[in-house]
Amino acid sequence: GEGLPRPGQTRLIVVANQKGGVGKTTTTVNLAASLALHGSRVLVVDLDPQGNASTALGIDHHAEVPSIYDVLVESRPLAEVVQPVVDVEGLFCAPATIDLAGAEIELVSLVARESRLQRAIQAYEQPLDYILIDCPPSLGLLTVNALVAGQEVLIPIQCEYYALEGLGQLLRNVDLVRGHLNPTLHVSTILLTMYDGRTRLASQVAEEVRTHFGDEVLRTSIPRSVRISEAPSYGQTVLTYDPGSSGALSYLEAAREIALRGIGVGYDAGHAHIGA
Ligand code: ADP
Ligand code: MG
Repeated sequence: GEGLPRPGQTRLIVVANQKGGVGKTTTTVNLAASLALHGSRVLVVDLDPQGNASTALGIDHHAEVPSIYDVLVESRPLAEVVQPVVDVEGLFCAPATIDLAGAEIELVSLVARESRLQRAIQAYEQPLDYILIDCPPSLGLLTVNALVAGQEVLIPIQCEYYALEGLGQLLRNVDLVRGHLNPTLHVSTILLTMYDGRTRLASQVAEEVRTHFGDEVLRTSIPRSVRISEAPSYGQTVLTYDPGSSGALSYLEAAREIALRGIGVGYDAGHAHIGA
């Protein structure tokens, strides 16, 4: 893929929204693949017991596979669970297995329960340009671990009714974690997902989100695309499943925006709302 500037140090991006089905996992894996295709080294941390990000990246995550559960609960080194993604050079995944569902409870009684992922990431010595963390649809200890480990929060927002409802709770959690545990944490990026520019509702919601969040909203939005939703069942991202599709191009463009913003370069969007 074409090169993009790589960040001087690892950027840690937490993909969070406690609403399910808004495109967290889809965004995590497709942005990660886009950044890797642009020449970066990228690790996806799957923090959702459903393991959808692991599945979408074609990573084995049956119950016996060493996983992020072992890292969080058994203090296993992250390096021992990371697997390379077969189709995409420079892309890696720390998979989630179903036992992660119990971790929410098991973590409660452990020492430093909020900062176990942070410690594991700090001890990980492989060079990386980006770590993307895919959160479960809740604000429990797994998401708190992601917020404590991260620097940036990326919130995918689906352009539908009630899109902004419940976001206040996430933003308050970000403030709490920033205030008490992680002073560098901030919401850096809002991404509009499953955008259908033909409907009045979608453009109204998009406008509302842009008014509310301003510059954090990426100019690129992700169109609703059948190719995007088909790719995971082949264990692929849309970037390898259908590289020329509008979905693939929009994630590449979103990745370019994120990469350029990270080094403080202004972005001239020629392709906002690709394919929408
Ligand atoms: P979350 O992780 O927030 O629960 P997902 O990323 O799993 O959300 O997306 C929810 C569903 O919507 C999935 O079936 C996914 O394939 C589909 N989906 C996500 N983004 C798009 C898109 N841009 N176009 C079409 N379907 C999408
Ligand atoms: Mg998900």
